[in-house]
Amino acid sequence: MADIPQDLLGQIKYLEDLFTVPASKLKEITDHFVKELAKGLSVEGGSIPMNVTWVMGYPTGEEQGTFIALDMGGTNLRVCEIVLPEEKGEFEIIQSKYRMPEELKTGKSEELWEYIADCVQQFIDYHHEDGKLGTVPMGFTFSYPCTQDYVDHGVLQRWTKGFDISGVEGEDVVPLFEAALKKRGLPIHLTALINDTTGTLIASNYTDQSTRIGAIFGTGCNAAYMENVGSCPKIAHLNLPPETPIAINCEYGAFDNEHIVLPLTKYDKIIDADSPRPGQQAFEKMISGLYLGEIFRLVLLDLHQGNACTIFEGQSMTKLSKPYSLDASFLSLIEEDPFENLSETHDLLKQQLGLDAKKPELELVRRLAELIGTRAARLSACGIAAIAKKKDLQAPCHVGADGSVFNKYPHFKARGAQALRDIFDWPASTIQQRGKEDPIDIRAAEDGSGVGAALIAALTIKRVKEGNL
Ligand code: BGC
Ligand code: MG
Repeated sequence: MADIPQDLLGQIKYLEDLFTVPASKLKEITDHFVKELAKGLSVEGGSIPMNVTWVMGYPTGEEQGTFIALDMGGTNLRVCEIVLPEEKGEFEIIQSKYRMPEELKTGKSEELWEYIADCVQQFIDYHHEDGKLGTVPMGFTFSYPCTQDYVDHGVLQRWTKGFDISGVEGEDVVPLFEAALKKRGLPIHLTALINDTTGTLIASNYTDQSTRIGAIFGTGCNAAYMENVGSCPKIAHLNLPPETPIAINCEYGAFDNEHIVLPLTKYDKIIDADSPRPGQQAFEKMISGLYLGEIFRLVLLDLHQGNACTIFEGQSMTKLSKPYSLDASFLSLIEEDPFENLSETHDLLKQQLGLDAKKPELELVRRLAELIGTRAARLSACGIAAIAKKKDLQAPCHVGADGSVFNKYPHFKARGAQALRDIFDWPASTIQQRGKEDPIDIRAAEDGSGVGAALIAALTIKRVKEGNL
């Protein structure tokens, strides 16, 4: 690795070289990605889990009933009651959000399930004082990689997104959670355990049938799509008709765990080594919201400590030295600040980190945020492009996308769209002919872990009735 230059302009150039991913590299990554997706479906498997979800086909629009949807995300816990209408149209939804206490993420298994069940109980007590709610089916969105033999069971493969609760990996999470529900006598039947990406795919396809992929760009990253059973050698032994559709939760945050193709920097390597799960989620650690602020922090610290030491010279790094003290919203604010004076950035650095930055330093900080945000968006596009290539998806192909980074990070959508154009070499004319829409268009999803979870519960009940399980 080249030494860090002494001057600020040299440092900016150093960072640009480190974080810029040219079109040729995006193509190389995508091609490797396509192979890895297929490997994950093989009997031997690969590093991308390609989890079979037992969601077998898209909704028809005839799904109806009342459902509880529970969403255990990385940051919040959300409980919803959803009524799917008799005729396809507006769904009714009431919901409450609860914070996931930070200590729970590294606490004990039982405490986690008890806490979640408490939230469900609070929700039901609050909305059904009269106790009139009969037994309701629940769709539980548990957004971690699970091995599923049935749609209402799932063995946690490993925690991601900084979670580290012992005694859950390798276990079926459903009985653990059901025990806590039962203790409270809650009138709930866990009908489906789903991933946020699968929920997003199904909910978005319900309202827009051109949706072929459901993706999350948030605290973690991942996507789901509809495969044919015939393309999944790992379930060939079940002898299902090869044309049967089955949703696959890729869990592609684990892409390139063996570090073959991703352009890792020394900062990415530090993040991995210091994480609760080194060697895992290599792709996710470069692009998802949980890590963007940390990459940024590590770079600034390195520039300061490097023998060059031209940035924040003589200032106290105490605050910047605390791991994970900056989140992606910090970068968002910097990227939103008008470039002319960067006064917002100045105040942010001052307030949150106690740093008094001069103009050239502010410009470096801004460029760094752009570089990290742009790299994340461009690499993210490779996962979507790989699924599209594998399935030979044709226009109009919509990707339903959700997650804090997609919804809130400035320019993320435009940068991702540009990366897709770079990967597919779409001529500008194609884009113009189709108006504003590219052949693959990543757009805001329907509520996957709410409506999507309800739809999947409805689809499951229908399948059970038809004896098709
Ligand atoms: C999890 C996935 C999830 C994604 C987005 C990843 O860390 O492993 O299951 O879909 O985050 O929430
Ligand atoms: Mg979520």
